[in-house]
Amino acid sequence: MNNLLADADLCVKCGLCLPHCPTYNQTQNENESPRGRIALIQAWAGKHLETSKKLVEHIDNCLLCRSCEQVCPAVVPYGRLINNFREHIQTERHSTLAVSLLKTVSQNKNVSRLAESGLRFYQTTGLQKTARFLKLPELLRLDKIDRLLPDYHKPAPLAPYYPATITARGQVGLFIGCMGSLLDHETVDAAIKVLTAAGFNVVIPEQQTCCGALALHGGDSETSKQLASINCTAFADKNLDAIITIASGCGSQMREYQQTELAGKVIDISQFLIKSACDFSERLLPLTASVCLHTPCSLKNVMREEQGALKLLQQIPTIKITQLPATIQCCGSAGSYMLDHPRMAQALLNNLLTAALEPQPGYLVSSNIGCALHIAAGLRERGIALEVLHPITLIARQLTSNRMTN
Ligand code: SF4
Ligand code: SF4
Repeated sequence: MNNLLADADLCVKCGLCLPHCPTYNQTQNENESPRGRIALIQAWAGKHLETSKKLVEHIDNCLLCRSCEQVCPAVVPYGRLINNFREHIQTERHSTLAVSLLKTVSQNKNVSRLAESGLRFYQTTGLQKTARFLKLPELLRLDKIDRLLPDYHKPAPLAPYYPATITARGQVGLFIGCMGSLLDHETVDAAIKVLTAAGFNVVIPEQQTCCGALALHGGDSETSKQLASINCTAFADKNLDAIITIASGCGSQMREYQQTELAGKVIDISQFLIKSACDFSERLLPLTASVCLHTPCSLKNVMREEQGALKLLQQIPTIKITQLPATIQCCGSAGSYMLDHPRMAQALLNNLLTAALEPQPGYLVSSNIGCALHIAAGLRERGIALEVLHPITLIARQLTSNRMTN
């Protein structure tokens, strides 16, 4: 309680964060703003406000996009405050079936393997089409998950080690994430291809598990700590220069692990390649299509590494990159938020898609799998055939076998 008050008391109520808050902009309600939420927590921690459904709702409606933290002159640790509060009121919060299922699949490897087989059966036998026709996902309240599923691709089994394909200049660990290994194999394969082509040996510890973000944001800090501890053990003693993430949602969580040795090595893949002065320009085929670059909140506001993807993509000859206007905020995916706050998630997605589609891009790239799945689902629902992919996947597709200049 003292920690809550200490963090909340840092807020000077200046309101500079308000225009940067997506939920405030959508509702114009002070209780849906960072300043309002801090005041609510302050009052609750000071015993001036009872726990109530309304209070829990206002705090739950926060996307944890942390745009407010970026602009706060008093450096209020907003993310920590919300996570701590959610931990205190965990018994008052109720997960939807979809969120509970997502947590179970992401945090348990055996269940994840089962889910992989189930997904293959569901998507390759025509069952998905029949179930959708009969509206079964809606009846089972799993439609919010079902809409996110990309087409099934059989994953190639992963090896624990991939040697550099040119003279080795270092060794990195690759964090593939629970959803990456289940739903986005192309990005995992692309990361291995590009990193080894840049001269890095790639280690993929089998023991690695979910980053813990879903648990922490749901108020379950114990599970989150256990998952962090498994990941720290998995990546320890491997002589790694860096731990590379291909989903900024996971990267931002790992960057804030209490085990600072691991946290300090975590870096987004694009940022890492740029920081390592990797120049692929001689080896990349030109691309005539224009590309809309989406920057996830976790990459911008927590990892603070949004320049990496832009600089890396600029190495593709003739590429035309469009960026979303600064007025476009969070896409609404926000971990499991899109599953239990579909209305707000859709409203934010509408804003983003309107702006993204205006220049008629040939691709949309995003460095976070949650955002990419949510945006791709929104495009499918609108009948728009626009591919959404990770920047590293685009680089891997353009990569030829000519030697790279370091
Ligand atoms: S910008 Fe910071 S200090 Fe100002 S109201 Fe927002 S959280 Fe409080
Ligand atoms: S984290 Fe995002 S949604 Fe939550 S209060 Fe801050 S700006 Fe608003």
